[in-house]
Amino acid sequence: MPFPQQLVDGYRAFLIGRLRHEQDRYLGLAESGQSPQIMVIGCCDSRVSPEVIFDARPGELFVVRNIGNLVPPYTPDGAQRAVSAALEFAVQALKVKHIVVLGHAQCGGIRAYAEEAAPLSPGDFIGHWMELIAPAAADVGPRGDRPLGQYITELEQASIVKMLDNLMTFPWINALVGRGMLTLHAAYFGVATGRLSVRDPATGKFVQIAADDHTRLFAQPRF
Ligand SMILES: [Zn+2]
Repeated sequence: MPFPQQLVDGYRAFLIGRLRHEQDRYLGLAESGQSPQIMVIGCCDSRVSPEVIFDARPGELFVVRNIGNLVPPYTPDGAQRAVSAALEFAVQALKVKHIVVLGHAQCGGIRAYAEEAAPLSPGDFIGHWMELIAPAAADVGPRGDRPLGQYITELEQASIVKMLDNLMTFPWINALVGRGMLTLHAAYFGVATGRLSVRDPATGKFVQIAADDHTRLFAQPRF
């Protein structure tokens, strides 16, 4: 089976564009190693690449992606845990200053959980994984009369906040946050609108950032 042509073409574009312009940066990072200040925990969804949304250059973001941008709580039981290993490396070795949990609208994992829809079933991987948002679902409460879209948005945002709580169950994260050496952030990206909101810890509300620029550039919605 041939390597996908789309990837060959994309790599050519990378050679012509980014690598040509940033070769020195790549060489420098190869010699000195990476030292990103920011870790992002995002969703696997192909529409929400953190490097694209934050226009990040090589070496700037330490990124972990999984279905639903979830963080399991601290459980030192010897099991293989990808997110915990990445957190350990980012916090203890790289000493990142910020961890951003980046959720997004139209998250298929969260929607499937909310609708209890296929492919979620008690025996599959996604079903077990998405159980991590059960505490957030309990916070949001039963859907009741809420429109499904509104309920899912509330669940998506509550889940991000819950993941910050889960991050705080890691003793070394908790200690560094307490000393002001590490800050946790909850962010939410609107796939259709391109709006990015960040949770204000004082109010608990998600507040759009760079809203003026967004309004100026997208006054006439094209979506
Ligand atoms: Zn998602």
